[in-house]
Amino acid sequence: MKESIYNSSFEELKSFFIDLNEKAFRAEQLWNWLYVKGVNELELINNISTTVIKKVASKYHISHLNVNKRVISKDGTRKWLLKLEDGKEIETVYIPDSNRGTICVSSQVGCTLSCSFCHTGTMNYIRNLNMSEILGQVIFVKNELKDWNYKVEKKKLTNIVFMGMGEPFFNYDNVIKAINILTDEKGLAFSKRKITLSTSGVVPKILDFKEDSDVNLAISLHAAFDEVRDILVPLNRKWPIQVLLKALKEYSKKRSNKRITFEYIMLDGINDSIKDAQELIKLIKPFRAKINLIPFNSWPGSNYKASSMHQIQIFKKFILEKGKLVATVRLPRGDDVLAACGQLKSF
Ligand code: SF4
Repeated sequence: MKESIYNSSFEELKSFFIDLNEKAFRAEQLWNWLYVKGVNELELINNISTTVIKKVASKYHISHLNVNKRVISKDGTRKWLLKLEDGKEIETVYIPDSNRGTICVSSQVGCTLSCSFCHTGTMNYIRNLNMSEILGQVIFVKNELKDWNYKVEKKKLTNIVFMGMGEPFFNYDNVIKAINILTDEKGLAFSKRKITLSTSGVVPKILDFKEDSDVNLAISLHAAFDEVRDILVPLNRKWPIQVLLKALKEYSKKRSNKRITFEYIMLDGINDSIKDAQELIKLIKPFRAKINLIPFNSWPGSNYKASSMHQIQIFKKFILEKGKLVATVRLPRGDDVLAACGQLKSF
């Protein structure tokens, strides 16, 4: 079976051409077609000879993710149920804004973790996505938006968040390799400042990540006390809050220019009291950080209730005034079509 060309790094494509006794710059030409022009068939490439393209096509194909379902929210957020080559399905979301367009990318089919507030957490884990399936989501959305050959200021898809289905650090190698391609200036050229990877707190990988990548890091914290976090994010039983914060201190030493985002889902009566806010301030104060308060988005069968907007504002004000920390409230986007944070589930 032919390989998806999106599973190859630039260096691998270069070696492929060298092995064919072709000039290495063929790899640059091909890369440009794939990641700047967004070509979707090798046969459309017109500056490399047909003989050479046939050799490329004997090893590789340009893979496509097919759509099984598409929904559009009344706020313009779009969600796609995408079918992978083995028939498995994932969800990908695009959130348009006045000054940016963000794609929320999945990294696994299902998830091994069972965060109790998260719809994906009710699915079984099936498998990791390979690099072509991670990049494929970005390419798919760029195709849908007709976002190729743009002038920089006209780019529609500007931001990427690894906050879809799955724990990205449990698919570490493929996610890091995909980020390297997404940020490659000869190709898709996404700004590293506009890519954020969110983890539920896989401590050993946070330590690796500080060496391997300088895109932004977000932590799904969601609780300031271990007893609460053990339930909301069960991975906390393995790496409790203090262990997580120790790893983040190491991260901050190496990436002192980076501001860590702490995500905090607001659940009525669970983690939204002033006592929680006080403890949260204590935990986060040592970091160059931002707190993102996320109103809970309900899903069928969920046991939680969202904090009221009034309570969220009280919590936020306390953090701003007492903690002098940056706190924002993430406006729900796409919640009417189950495309908002914590609502993704493919079957
Ligand atoms: S919040 Fe993230 S890590 Fe937790 S169950 Fe959902 S997808 Fe998995």
